[in-house]
Amino acid sequence: MKLESMRREVVKANQELARRGLVIYTWGNASGISRDEGLVAIKPSGVDFDALRPEDIVLTDLEGNVVEGTLRPSSDLPTHLELYRSFTEIGGVAHSHSTHATAWAQAGRGIDCLGTTHADYFYGTIPVTEPMSAEDIEADYELNTGRSIVKRFTRIDPQSMPAVLVAGHGPFTWGSSPTKAVFNAVVLEEVARMAWLTVTLNRDAAPILKAHLDKHFLRKHGPEAYYGQSVGSR
Ligand SMILES: [Zn+2]
Repeated sequence: MKLESMRREVVKANQELARRGLVIYTWGNASGISRDEGLVAIKPSGVDFDALRPEDIVLTDLEGNVVEGTLRPSSDLPTHLELYRSFTEIGGVAHSHSTHATAWAQAGRGIDCLGTTHADYFYGTIPVTEPMSAEDIEADYELNTGRSIVKRFTRIDPQSMPAVLVAGHGPFTWGSSPTKAVFNAVVLEEVARMAWLTVTLNRDAAPILKAHLDKHFLRKHGPEAYYGQSVGSR
């Protein structure tokens, strides 16, 4: 069996989505990529998170051809693949319909950086995509979902903004590994919940200063980072 440790990590990452309350039933998926092998490891379609085993994980190439596995891959595979092809630094992708992040996506609203919790992980407003056209929905829906994300990131660095809200749908997050992608999904959900409460209490709540955003994001991420114990532990 190819990529055994990646398969185990992808199983754990998917189960973490459920364990943290981000998905119910099968409403979500996580994947990872081995850039060396050019292979993506993704959850199979419609399998319960509890029942998921490493051998159930489906391996595909970057065009979506199944290389190893007997089950059908998650139907969101073409979205994951478009992100891996376009964001060449990322190693994992997660998708859920977590309540608060999805509410912002359904409202068609990006999430401004209203506080330092947000600034620690997302460098600015978490973007929302343009609504998809009927044409883009009717044919190659999942691929076009990925394209709408990539288009939204034309002038945004996916390394400093590891999350997006797909309009009328829900969040996708990514990271250096499947574990990090799911971590970002969990943090996004909490940040989305805080932002909702904040604008409920004060609808004119303003984003924090750029200096504040820079201080919090850049001390944890990038070449000048100093937060935590070592570069490897971040
Ligand atoms: Zn979805």
